[in-house]
Amino acid sequence: MQTQFTDADLQKPHIREADRVLRTCVHCGFCNATCPTYQLLGDERDGPRGRIYLMKELLESRDDDDQVTKETQLHLDRCLTCRNCETTCPSGVEYHKLLDIGRAEVDRRVGRTPRERVLHLGLRKALVEPRRFAALLKLGQTFRPLVPGTLKDKMPAKPVDAGVRPDGKRHARQMLILEGCVQPGLSPNTNAATARVLDRLGIGLTPAPQAGCCGAIDFHLSAQEAGRERMRSNIDAWWPAIEKAGEAGVEAIVQTASGCGAFVKEYAEMLADDPDYAEKAERISAMAKDLVEILREEDLDALAVKQSRKLAFHCPCTLQHAQRLSGAVEGVLTRLGFGLTPVRDAHLCCGSAGTYSVTQPVLAKQLRDDKLDALEAGDPELIVTANIGCQTHLDGAGRTPVRHWIEIVDEALRPA
Ligand code: SF4
Ligand code: SF4
Repeated sequence: MQTQFTDADLQKPHIREADRVLRTCVHCGFCNATCPTYQLLGDERDGPRGRIYLMKELLESRDDDDQVTKETQLHLDRCLTCRNCETTCPSGVEYHKLLDIGRAEVDRRVGRTPRERVLHLGLRKALVEPRRFAALLKLGQTFRPLVPGTLKDKMPAKPVDAGVRPDGKRHARQMLILEGCVQPGLSPNTNAATARVLDRLGIGLTPAPQAGCCGAIDFHLSAQEAGRERMRSNIDAWWPAIEKAGEAGVEAIVQTASGCGAFVKEYAEMLADDPDYAEKAERISAMAKDLVEILREEDLDALAVKQSRKLAFHCPCTLQHAQRLSGAVEGVLTRLGFGLTPVRDAHLCCGSAGTYSVTQPVLAKQLRDDKLDALEAGDPELIVTANIGCQTHLDGAGRTPVRHWIEIVDEALRPA
């Protein structure tokens, strides 16, 4: 695609990056065929190719150009950032990088309504601090009838028991784990089950209590610098354990929520221009591993799992399109003896997409219901997934129960 940036424009790093991405697009439109919002709305501007044109127009225009309107912002807001288009694109267009730039620019140009500002700030304040989120969750559970429907659906009716978390200090092999921000409150058993399964494989988890939210929520809600601050703070929290490299150092940073994992793997790119953190960020991104990347390399016989439960696996977009780990969880579950039902259109997003289910509830519900129809077609006993957002969004429909896959592996462990 030809671009028309001036030399002065191209001095700015974000315009140079946008120019690089735009020039890889050959406007073939193949990506529209797998875009969930294009399929639902049938509007070119709600598909990747149309959004790419909108962003080109936006970034090439002057600040006083009145062609850039709230409508441009609406079409960019409706994007799920699912990156299905990137998997489909034959030219390797890095759409999500352009979208980050385009969204920041459109927000700067047309601003946000007071309602949107309150919603974005409320979400950022409520979700990113685990202790604050846990307190709000408890309050919500106590006064459940008063909680608005979209949020109520995502809350477990009562506190969830996580069981005992083993002390993994005795193991020579050590890893860090990103505890996350909402997962410890909504599904505390996920990280506890991870610790138990890894313990059985002879891997201990080194605590890093100062690490918190990965930064994705701030970053995707018009607060990119706040998101970068969280990245730096996580790097500082993990660094002492990483610096002990060699025999005593940690091997990896385990991610149990694929959304966070995908984001941590991008720290290197997002902090590439930060002279104090660029090198460290590169090391952190290289060490970030989704839990399935750890398990698939291990001798799973050590888990002594024998199972025949029939499961349907929902592969989150952040696992299949961002981390390119399609089929990995299915492979591990099959090796452990679980039966997996076929799922049609497994490449499509469930509508959770970070905070999308709150900011775009109508589209998110349509996508959720379609996804559940596909997941339930093989009549599974349970649906399992690999990301807390997808888990609570799908489970909130009150249909087939939805859990993290590691919880089901943990339940199947024979007594040691
Ligand atoms: S498939 Fe790739 S090259 Fe073709 S229009 Fe979409 S983004 Fe551009
Ligand atoms: S990221 Fe997903 S919703 Fe957005 S344009 Fe690409 S395929 Fe469509």
